[in-house]
Parts: sequence; C-alpha cells; structure tokens
Amino acid sequence: MPLPPDVHLIPSTCSGPQQPVNSYLLRTGARAVLIDPAADCTPDKLPAPPAAILITHLQQENVAGCSHFPGVAVYVPAGAEYLCAGEAAYRKLVTPWEPPWDWEARGNFQGHLAGARNERPPQQPLPVAGVLRDGDEIFGLQVLATPGHGKHALTFLARIEEKQIAFCGDLMCGDGRLWNWFDCDWDYGLQSGQRALLDSARRLRSLQPDVICATHGAVVVQACDSLSRLCERLQRVLEPFVAGAEPLPVNFAGEGSAGEESAARGWRELSPRLHQWKAGNCAALLSASGNALLIDDGLCYWEPLRERAAHHRMVMEQLKRALAITRIETVIITHYHGDHTENIPDLVALEGTQVLALDIVAEPVEHPERFNLAAPLPWYGMVCPHPMIQVQPWFSTCFSSLLSSELQTHGARHIPGSNADALHYSRGAKRSDAPALPARI
Ligand SMILES: [Zn+2]
Repeated sequence: MPLPPDVHLIPSTCSGPQQPVNSYLLRTGARAVLIDPAADCTPDKLPAPPAAILITHLQQENVAGCSHFPGVAVYVPAGAEYLCAGEAAYRKLVTPWEPPWDWEARGNFQGHLAGARNERPPQQPLPVAGVLRDGDEIFGLQVLATPGHGKHALTFLARIEEKQIAFCGDLMCGDGRLWNWFDCDWDYGLQSGQRALLDSARRLRSLQPDVICATHGAVVVQACDSLSRLCERLQRVLEPFVAGAEPLPVNFAGEGSAGEESAARGWRELSPRLHQWKAGNCAALLSASGNALLIDDGLCYWEPLRERAAHHRMVMEQLKRALAITRIETVIITHYHGDHTENIPDLVALEGTQVLALDIVAEPVEHPERFNLAAPLPWYGMVCPHPMIQVQPWFSTCFSSLLSSELQTHGARHIPGSNADALHYSRGAKRSDAPALPARI
C-alpha cells in the first residue's frame, strides 16, 4: 500500500528471532521523527535526518538502531525506564519465587515471568531524553497507551492528508493477527496481558485509524476491519476464562472428579493400577511385580524446602505401604516445570529411582541455568550449584506401550504420531537430530 509521502517504511534485512523489524520515518513539518529503529536502520537509509526517535515498546529488536544516531533524543514509554539500563542491570531483577508462595503473584515480578525473561532489554544502556505518557503530544503525534504486547506499549497517532495513521508497535501484526503471544503473557496464565491487549485494540479501533504501521508485518490499510478481527479472535480465546473468576490449575481435579479414594491417603484411585496424588503433580503406575513408575514427582506442598522434603518422604512411605509397592523404580518427567520435578532429587536419594524424559525435557531439567524458561526448578527455591536431577540416557520399551498415543504437555508442546519414536531420541542426541516440534497455541 502506498503510504502518504511523508511516511517512509524503512525495511530491515535482519534475520533471526523477532526479525525483521519495520522502522518508520515520519516528516512532521520541517522535522522528521524515527519510530522503532531496527539494528540495520542507519542514517544513509533515511530520506531525512531524524530530530528524535520514538519507541513504541522497549524491546531489543526495535531499539537496536538507536546506536546509529548518537545525539538524537530518544523517547520511550513511561514505565519502561528500567528496561533502558541494559542487559546486565536487567538480569539483577530476576529473583526466585519466594515464600509465602502467593499463587496470584506466581513470582511475576517486574521484568520477568515466573523466572523467564519475557522482556528483551537492549544489551547496552539506552540514553533516554524523555518518557511518553497517554495523552501526550510530541512532534504533532498523539500518544496513546496501548498495553498488551509489553506493559507500557504505546501507539503514536498521526493525521496526514486526512488519514489517520497509527504506529501501533506490536499491538497487531498484519490482518488481525499477533506477532507473538508470549510478550503479552504478563502473569503466567492469568490473562491480564491478553485482556489489556484486547482493551487496547478496542480503544484504537474506536479512534478509527485508516492505516496501521506496525513494528512487524505488512502495513494494514483496512485498519478498523483488521482490528475488529483481532478483537474477535482475542475474545474467542479469552472467553472460556471468565473475567474475575478464580483461576484454577487444570491439573488439580476438584471435588467429585473421576476416581475412587485410594488406599493411600491423599491419592485418588483412577484404576487399581493407577493412582493420582490429589494435591499436585504425581501419578503412580503399579506393576504386578510390586514395582511402581511415577509420572512426575511434584507434590505442590508449598512449605519451606526442608519441610517439603520431609512431607514428600512421608507421602512416599505411605504410598508404598498402602499399595504394597516394593520399589519406585522409575519416574518419567513430562516437562521441565519445577512443580512437576521438585521432589525428584529426594526420590532418587530415597529409592535410587531412574529418571526418564525426552531429550528436550532432560536438558532444561538438568541445566535450568542454560535456558530462559518460565518456572524451572530454581524458581521453586531450589538453588542448583550442580545438576539436581540427572536423566538416564536409556530408553525402556515399556513406555512405548504406555505412551503410545500422542503426548501433549503442559508446555503446549505437541508431538504428532508415535510418541515412542520421540522418546527414542536419547539424551545424548544432538538437538539438530531431533524432530522439530511445532508449538500448538
Ligand atoms: Zn515487539
């Protein structure tokens, strides 16, 4: 779509995650402002030198080009200043989830989501000339708060040749779509970011923009139609979660759910050979020989660490006694989250239990510090100077029949076809040898 002559899209040829970024140069009167400069947005690519740089939302990829314009004033969204201090300062914000283990907070502090960074600050500090707030006007542009993709995201509105142009950051990408979902997950599943995004999209639509210039994707000319589509889609996704309702973890089955009371206290008998811990993430499959296999071992007993280990020992002893289990031979980890793995080091110490997992699960479980993932073991208070869990690099054939159907984990990973094939990838296999696992959202 031809943009008005005063608006220039500066395409980027950067590749990799979050790329390429659209940068825009807008002439307002005698001056020009640059919006969201990409890493390869250099002065020679611009039709005019910018008097200022405006940032819609603070992420590495759309502020990287600021360094090519030393001395040019950079304006960022108010509230996002802490992201301008550089990567090293930002990393200090990440702290473990601490007692009293408030479920609502879930360790979602400023700057990270349950231990994972869902914000991407620039590596080097970004000198800031000023901050922008909802209702401000700068270089003839109207500033609109549109949180969602980032807590402090802004949209800049410009009226040019009777058209209203919205520089909306990553509020929308193309026709009613999103650039990504993770950046609006502020609170690890409680949907406040997605709801903010929906409100922002509605707010922008009510102002009836003609053209949308987003940080990613194509310029959108039927702006209101596309925003309506985005709103409809978000609404459809959010509908099952009634606003204001108590968010309940789906894996904690409530009263009256399937299964009989087990002979083991605190467990539910799903079948004589399959028992499920009611209060957390552990299921026990019993063999005729008296051995047991656990699927995950996270009892979700949120007391201080030492008490949790003692509680786990008691629960396992009672389980063994009540169900005549000789040994808990094996535990399978479904995914890396700490609330599914927390008690495994204790289980291994107690029973010499073998630990099995897919290679893509084994690596973050053994070395959580190498990954930027939400809710790993350290986030649950377990400091890991050395691997606390070691996964066995062997494959037991019993699992091919046990898990013959498709496996879908809590982490929205979907493994099509025979799961046994997926499990055959040993922990030692190179990542490049493993099949690509499409994320299902
Ligand atoms: Zn973004």
